[in-house]
Amino acid sequence: MPKNPVAFIHVPREKLPQRPPSVRQQDWNFIGEPLADHVSAIPKQASRCMDCAVPFCQSSYGCPVENLIPDWNALVTQGRWREALESLHLTNNFPEFTGFLCPAPCESACVLNRENAPVAIRDIELQIIEQGFAAGWVVPQLPKTLRQERVAIVGSGPAGLAAAQQLRRLGLHVTVFERAAKPGGLLRYGIPDFKMPKSILDRRIAQMQEEGVEFKCGVSIGDDVTLSELRASFDAVCLAVGAEQPRDLDIPGRELGGVIQAMPYLSQQNQVLGGEVTATDFNAAGKTVAVIGGGDTGSDCIATALRQGAKQVYEFSLIEQPKATRGASNPWPQWPLVFKKSYAHEEGCERVWGVAATHLEGASGWVKRIHKASSRATGAGGDTTAGRASLDVDLVILAIGFTGIAQTFLAKHPELKTSAQGTLLLDAQRMTSVQGVFAAGDAVRGASLIVWAIAEGRKVAASIAAFLAL
Ligand SMILES: Cc1cc2nc3c(=O)[nH]c(=O)nc-3n(C[C@H](O)[C@H](O)[C@H](O)COP(=O)(O)OP(=O)(O)OC[C@H]3O[C@@H](n4cnc5c(N)ncnc54)[C@H](O)[C@@H]3O)c2cc1C
Ligand code: SF4
Repeated sequence: MPKNPVAFIHVPREKLPQRPPSVRQQDWNFIGEPLADHVSAIPKQASRCMDCAVPFCQSSYGCPVENLIPDWNALVTQGRWREALESLHLTNNFPEFTGFLCPAPCESACVLNRENAPVAIRDIELQIIEQGFAAGWVVPQLPKTLRQERVAIVGSGPAGLAAAQQLRRLGLHVTVFERAAKPGGLLRYGIPDFKMPKSILDRRIAQMQEEGVEFKCGVSIGDDVTLSELRASFDAVCLAVGAEQPRDLDIPGRELGGVIQAMPYLSQQNQVLGGEVTATDFNAAGKTVAVIGGGDTGSDCIATALRQGAKQVYEFSLIEQPKATRGASNPWPQWPLVFKKSYAHEEGCERVWGVAATHLEGASGWVKRIHKASSRATGAGGDTTAGRASLDVDLVILAIGFTGIAQTFLAKHPELKTSAQGTLLLDAQRMTSVQGVFAAGDAVRGASLIVWAIAEGRKVAASIAAFLAL
């Protein structure tokens, strides 16, 4: 398809279709329709890119890995998928992770978003990489020369994986230490299969193993091996341990049974589907569930509870319902702070805005009722609970964010300097307060996004390479 600079006038924005909410919540499979059925529409969508003189999609408001978006849009428009894939891999080790999961700040910064119809960048990215895998173009990239230096990466989430792949491709011996049974971090144990199937993660781990990255799972640094032992055995160490400390709710009744944190809840369901355990401790089947927290983790809990067979799910948000359009203090190309409906909200939950849980009441040690501060707001589509002071519930899931690195890890490593937010402090070379120990991802940024973790993993790899004078 030849490039038409005004194609966006004639071609409407179209997103990859998702399966109907009532159908998809009957299973744990990917919420979208099969990607292969929708490849042919993608060049037309890519043709909508205006190739702006200043591509805001790549600016600091846009893509954190600085994907060369207008370049691969032009290539896809012309059907040059393989070259588009090469361009995409120049900046992003794992475009499939971001293609499935990124909230796409690039799209909110796209100039066409001024008219609320940005280029469907994330879908294009996803189809480029999936086309690449389908065609057999994504193959292990073996290092040209093997070097002596050895690097230990602690944590196998997207930050650790990106750092490991970059360093291995430079020819270093790279070992990834992971506390969990399998690699992937939150990609495996946090994010549900219906957002990104685990086969997508396993495919990439297999590629990394073929490239020579060694994974040692079931090893907790600080418990099984100390950080100083690790530092003594490797030329450099990178801590990519995530931001695992959950924020808690300090209200009466918190100690009741059935009041649980989001991560153990999601992680257990992921482990069941992954064949690691046979049942979850907390199953929402037949229960009335209150998810406290209106963010992405909360949405994943809602959708998981619905698939487990919850009777009713409420979502409690502390904030008032946002407006449908941007306020004057939140102009384009900033991330829009507007009312959003996630995939989980489409599947059915009652959203309760502008409320705070005040205390929990139980019977025989189990939560039975949640009390909340009275609300002025009403939920989208008619909130029937807003005026009530309490609700009957059987399960309360706390999805109210994270406060930095796990306290247990920090307590064992007083030599690591941290911020007030409980994240690691780094120097300009991304080194922690311990010589030769670097860090990346949520451990540094606080709970963030996959695309930021990949960006940080790539940057820390460059810092480690410079430290080792490669
Ligand atoms: C439920 C949920 C859903 C999310 N959904 C999205 C989404 O859709 N899109 C998006 O962009 N972002 C999403 N995020 C955020 C995203 O997952 C994180 O920002 C990202 O995974 C951070 O990557 P990371 O590599 O820094 O850390 P993590 O992915 O947290 O990985 C850290 C790893 O370190 C390991 N580890 C910790 N301590 C040790 C130790 N002492 N020894 C050995 N290993 C250790 C952990 O086991 C873990 O595997 C979500 C987060 C959650 C919680
Ligand atoms: S990684 Fe995220 S921000 Fe970057 S191009 Fe892809 S969807 Fe957009």
